[in-house]
Amino acid sequence: MNPRRRTFLKQLAAGVAATSLSPLSTRLHAAHHASQKKLGVALVGLGGYATRQLAPALQKTSRCSLRGIVTGTKKKEKIWADKYGVDTSHIYNYETFDSIANDPAIDIVYVVLPNSMHKEYVIRAAQAGKHVITEKPMGLNAAECREMIAACKAAGVKLSVGYRLRFEPNTMLIEKAGREKTMGAVRYVQSEMGFRIGDPAQWRLRHSLAGGGAMMDVGIYAIQGARYSTSEEPVSVRAQEFKTDPVKFAEVDETITWQMKFPSGAISNSTTSYSFGVNELTVSYERGRAGLRPANRYTGVAGYLGNEVLAAAPISQQALQMDDFARCISEDDTSKISGEEGLKDALVIEAIYESLRRGGTSVAV
Ligand code: NAD
Repeated sequence: MNPRRRTFLKQLAAGVAATSLSPLSTRLHAAHHASQKKLGVALVGLGGYATRQLAPALQKTSRCSLRGIVTGTKKKEKIWADKYGVDTSHIYNYETFDSIANDPAIDIVYVVLPNSMHKEYVIRAAQAGKHVITEKPMGLNAAECREMIAACKAAGVKLSVGYRLRFEPNTMLIEKAGREKTMGAVRYVQSEMGFRIGDPAQWRLRHSLAGGGAMMDVGIYAIQGARYSTSEEPVSVRAQEFKTDPVKFAEVDETITWQMKFPSGAISNSTTSYSFGVNELTVSYERGRAGLRPANRYTGVAGYLGNEVLAAAPISQQALQMDDFARCISEDDTSKISGEEGLKDALVIEAIYESLRRGGTSVAV
């Protein structure tokens, strides 16, 4: 152990007050306390994901604490204050949101609103001096993502996207196998994510709020799957669209299949849909295969990696995701799910939609 650190620990053990410590020790002491302090998170938009996943996950974090809420629904204020002990001084609505700048208890603003509102609230949060997490898809297009990245950079705050699966242990093993080529290079990836969507009146089916259909909402998981398993960025994409219910899906895509080519020669084939359930990842390496089924659920992500069985890990993906962002803030590190990562997916989605517009021809990403 570093002798200065040993001395510092001895002084701490002897109950020496911080004021009597050497300057270096004082700094270490302060750093120790900073790393112990939980960062205050304010959730913006208390819909299904914030209520059923993020708030419970925040109870399991070690570096974060649910300290604030932003809601347009008056009756949710008391419900959340009672359930999570959120103090009224940290409760905002969409009109008072900007005054969060004067609330030192809030370190991180987590935007959990419909897709078309992410950009505005990310930028307003950054301008209020808060670090920001935004839900996926980061923005409606690459230009929006670039604006958000620029706003956070200008404000000197960190930005990340809610890609919870990147902290799921089995997903991380497959990511590592691609990066380290432990079974040789990746040759082929099949990634799929779809579900049967219900209520025809919901915002996910309105283009102005969602920016697209299954592709924007859950196709992004299949893109992530292909990108994290290969550790490469696609160079081109070719896409096909299928619509069985032109009334329900009048404004947004229902089912899309697409193929991507990667610089190494690896290829991927993916499907997303709002009319059937599919939730799987398969990777073929030069030597052997890997798979996850389900690949994208909140719990139970399980499969195999070569001969190894990947049993579901009893963890909260969202708790690990938020704790890692808090760690990045405390250690001034860059999140692996930064704004740039969200931008990369937005560029792929744009190429997929462009390929559809061009009748399925190959489009460069
Ligand atoms: P939701 O419809 O359940 O909640 C949306 C919230 O936004 C509600 O509280 C609603 O009151 C509020 N809102 C404010 N203005 C609105 C408007 N003009 N129209 C509609 N709602 C408005 O949606 P959700 O499932 O919680 O999704 C929110 C975001 O989280 C989306 O971007 C979605 O893609 C993302 N999400 C991510 C995951 C994940 O696993 N990472 C899972 C679900 C949702």
